[in-house]
Amino acid sequence: MTDPLLAGDPLLTVLREIVGHRHVLTDPGTRRAYEVDWTGRFQGQARAVVRPGSTDEVAAVLRACRAAGAPVVPQGGNTGLVGGGVPLHGEILLSLRRLDGLDDVDRAAGQVTVGAGATLAAVQAHAAAAGWAFGVDLGARDSATIGGMVATNAGGTRLLRYGPMRHQVLGLEAVLSDGRVLRRLSGLLKDNTGYDLAGLVTGSEGTLAVVTRVRLRLVAPRPRRAVAVLGLASVERAVEIATALRVDLDALEAVEAFFDDGLDLVVERLGLSPPLRCAHPVYLLVECAEPQAGPDPLDALVAALAPLGLGDDDVAAGLDPAGRARLWRLREGHTEAINALGGEIGAPHKLDVTLPAARLAEFTTRVREVVAAIAPDARTFLFGHLADGNVHVNVVGLAPEDERVDDAVLRLVVSLGGSISAEHGIGTAKARWLALDRSEAELATFAAIREALDPTGVLNPSVLVWA
Ligand SMILES: Cc1cc2nc3c(=O)[nH]c(=O)nc-3n(C[C@H](O)[C@H](O)[C@H](O)COP(=O)(O)OP(=O)(O)OC[C@H]3O[C@@H](n4cnc5c(N)ncnc54)[C@H](O)[C@@H]3O)c2cc1C
Repeated sequence: MTDPLLAGDPLLTVLREIVGHRHVLTDPGTRRAYEVDWTGRFQGQARAVVRPGSTDEVAAVLRACRAAGAPVVPQGGNTGLVGGGVPLHGEILLSLRRLDGLDDVDRAAGQVTVGAGATLAAVQAHAAAAGWAFGVDLGARDSATIGGMVATNAGGTRLLRYGPMRHQVLGLEAVLSDGRVLRRLSGLLKDNTGYDLAGLVTGSEGTLAVVTRVRLRLVAPRPRRAVAVLGLASVERAVEIATALRVDLDALEAVEAFFDDGLDLVVERLGLSPPLRCAHPVYLLVECAEPQAGPDPLDALVAALAPLGLGDDDVAAGLDPAGRARLWRLREGHTEAINALGGEIGAPHKLDVTLPAARLAEFTTRVREVVAAIAPDARTFLFGHLADGNVHVNVVGLAPEDERVDDAVLRLVVSLGGSISAEHGIGTAKARWLALDRSEAELATFAAIREALDPTGVLNPSVLVWA
């Protein structure tokens, strides 16, 4: 059923002519999945959900919206965690999911061009079928799109070896708010011909241009894998071990951390078994990987762990695919388990931050104290990509609009020399704190770039706004 209030909307008539009647969604029930974020904390109403099927249609939609003065929120898989991809103020929701084409893998170059709406899992499978691999992985792989991952400069669990999304982007096609198309998809590795526009759009969270296609770097596959979960007494010890493994273990691909309270929640909510016989305050998940013709990564992992003084009760190894998946589920299941708890006592406030390695241990202690002082009944869960200094602080049991904890935690992060956003971006959730982390000169430069590319403020007007 079409919302009667929208039936006579002249902009929607134009948009229907561009993308076809069935790709302009106005029925409140059909719109709903596009209007609420993954955590349930951020929600609003779209003027309409528009689903273009080509770059030309994206360009025409943006031209029409700009002419009508209608703001637009681009959206991919809607797995973002900072409220940047949902329409909070009646915007047009531009869903890019139909742009999910996958060109043939360029086997000689080890590159592929894909549509912005292709999911990460589809790109991973496509690369694997051609004998290559994709360097970024994250828990939301079945829904997160390449366009959204470029827009947020997603990090994930392999950043240690391959870097963030930015390092995989060799070129892109993106549409400016006036409908002009920036296109550079040749994938040339050496191309010093002026400003790096793909680099500028990457991480811009849908505020500068709408990404429609991306040229991606692929990496050599490393199918021989070994995973271990280590039970440890403290964060200091976890940081020490992560450092030792980075120095000694060439095959190292991931070092993830979680804590006893988070593990208990995951085990209870997802019906899993704990990895070790005895509980430990902190856990590290370590993954090593080698090419098919390479040595067994387990040998290298065992050799690297040997001098670290861990007992049999402190290590669980995953050798076959099922065993490895079981251990990874304990780490990746955190987001899901915390969300499930949030459904009962209030959607989680998710604060994704980075700390210098030397301040990580201090942060994990102080952040719990800071939250407890403000909201004694709230529950705090910490986990993250330890080798990158990236901690996901999840506080459950707060009202969605109560930002006292967010404020105190982000100020603590900055006081310890960290960043208020490690990999999820600023979105709308952290916009008011951006000035804590960026200088006046930097913010003025941000504003000037935005003004140059989107002078009428059509694209994601509530995202990355700090004034
Ligand atoms: C279970 C789970 C695990 C996660 N793990 C990680 C992790 O390890 N690392 C990490 O970095 N993130 C992680 N995330 C967050 C999320 O998956 C990433 O931010 C991802 O990059 C978002 O992709 P998306 O397609 O869902 O984007 P959306 O959520 O749809 O959008 C995110 C932002 O990008 C903009 N955008 C989307 N598509 C486009 C486009 N085509 N052009 C321009 N702008 C666009 C939106 O406006 C919005 O600002 C996780 C999320 C979940 C739910």
